[in-house]
Amino acid sequence: MTNDRLDAWNYCWINGEKHTLPQIIHVINPATGETIGRVPRGGAAETERAIEAASQAFPKWSKLPAKARAGYLLDWADRISRDRQALAELLTMEQGKPLAEALDEIEGSADFIRWYAEEGKRAYGEIIPGSREKQRISVLRQPVGVAGLITPWNYPAAMVARKVSPALAAGCSVVLKPARQTPQIAIALFAHLMETGIPRGVANLVTGDAGVIGEALLSDRRVRKISFTGSTEVGKQLMRRAADQVKRLSLELGGNAPVIVFPDADLDEAAEKIVSNKFENGGQMCNGINVIYAHQEVADLLTEKIVSRVRELQIGPGTEPGVQVGPLIDMAAVQKVEELVKAAREKGARVLTGGYRLAAGERQGGSFFAPTVLAHVTREMSIAHEEIFGPVAPVIRFSGEEEVLRWANDTPYGLAAYVFTRDLGRVYRMSEGLEFGMVAVNGTSLSVPQAPFGGIKESGTGREGGRHGLDEYLETKYVTMMLPD
Ligand code: NAP
Repeated sequence: MTNDRLDAWNYCWINGEKHTLPQIIHVINPATGETIGRVPRGGAAETERAIEAASQAFPKWSKLPAKARAGYLLDWADRISRDRQALAELLTMEQGKPLAEALDEIEGSADFIRWYAEEGKRAYGEIIPGSREKQRISVLRQPVGVAGLITPWNYPAAMVARKVSPALAAGCSVVLKPARQTPQIAIALFAHLMETGIPRGVANLVTGDAGVIGEALLSDRRVRKISFTGSTEVGKQLMRRAADQVKRLSLELGGNAPVIVFPDADLDEAAEKIVSNKFENGGQMCNGINVIYAHQEVADLLTEKIVSRVRELQIGPGTEPGVQVGPLIDMAAVQKVEELVKAAREKGARVLTGGYRLAAGERQGGSFFAPTVLAHVTREMSIAHEEIFGPVAPVIRFSGEEEVLRWANDTPYGLAAYVFTRDLGRVYRMSEGLEFGMVAVNGTSLSVPQAPFGGIKESGTGREGGRHGLDEYLETKYVTMMLPD
């Protein structure tokens, strides 16, 4: 790879300008193990400059009419759409997902930005009747201030769009830190944002050492809000640290999503949708299915239908035509999945397909794990409780509604749950009884701009999407006034 290609995205964005550094981080293609990029290893000094730029830009940006802010966001979305092929290729190269999924992610990101461009115009206040004759009470919705945004590697374009667009639409200015495995797509998306002519300092991006950048954002009083998507472990650390200044916080954390299939479900439809959700992004999806609970009356038939579909999945580098499952993000992820499968086998689980890493021949250097289905899985196995984050589908049998509800809720996580049934009473009992932030019935699609995506319990706090997502970047101020005589 030429130096030009390696250094195509070798800068941070601070105060509207490109900022390079001698210290770099290598970006690796997970399908081959090759270095495909070099980005700056920023730290406290760069973050401080970015925060300063964002706080200088905030007063003017927050006072711009929402319509003017929407103009920049709509222009940004259109630029992303026009460049979707190149952006999707970059995303696939550094993250690994199949090109078709990367294209969907890029287009979905543009849609998200468009939606918030419009929603920013609807940050309505309220008029509340006073308690006395001349009293007038109004409620204002005002932008929080500078927001620090931290994103993960699994949906590295969508996560940028889902944080930056509501923040900017609400009138906040931002400092973004992307994940170290996938910084280039974030830098490229920011390049398109800068091309809109957005005022300097409104949007800043720093790549580098997570702990140092995180600490710089958390310790600076000018940063009034942190929005984080990533692991529950890091989310908890940030929550503890944010307490010092009582910073506003949104956390989109890990999950352990159950899918529950009842005997009255359409089993072909259930198998189709379970496989498409479970193996999307190589199984590295926070709301991806972790455990399949199949009613004992249909468990064998459902498992057969799932296995036959999984055997047909094409695995390989995301850039190859027809590939449906790419590599995992790195070898550490392969090892974690391998250990979970091994531990389950030792306790009696049976591998129906897959169950091994692909490391030889064409797949040498890549972090591939074969799409896997496990039967005879029990609740005692760690695979039933830990977030797998890989292409492994464990099937557990259940016998009744109460039992499965108890099992599904028996987790510290609470992000997403899925139910397949045609019984209307059961739809309500399950939707109301499942302790998760999102429940999908007879489908698995959850991520749309207009709906409040997010979890409860240790899956996080706050929502992305919908009007609820805009609220995350707004403060409520109440003004009471006595009319003069
Ligand atoms: P992670 O290790 O927590 O990293 C996420 C982000 O946090 C990265 O940018 C990372 O930077 C940064 N980070 C790490 N340590 C930090 C610290 N001490 N201070 C500040 N920032 C820090 O998570 P991951 O493994 O990349 O992502 C996978 C997890 O994200 C899964 O658990 C998944 O379920 C969750 N997720 C949740 C949602 C949701 O909406 N609920 C969506 C997507 C993913 P570096 O990369 O530089 O270390």
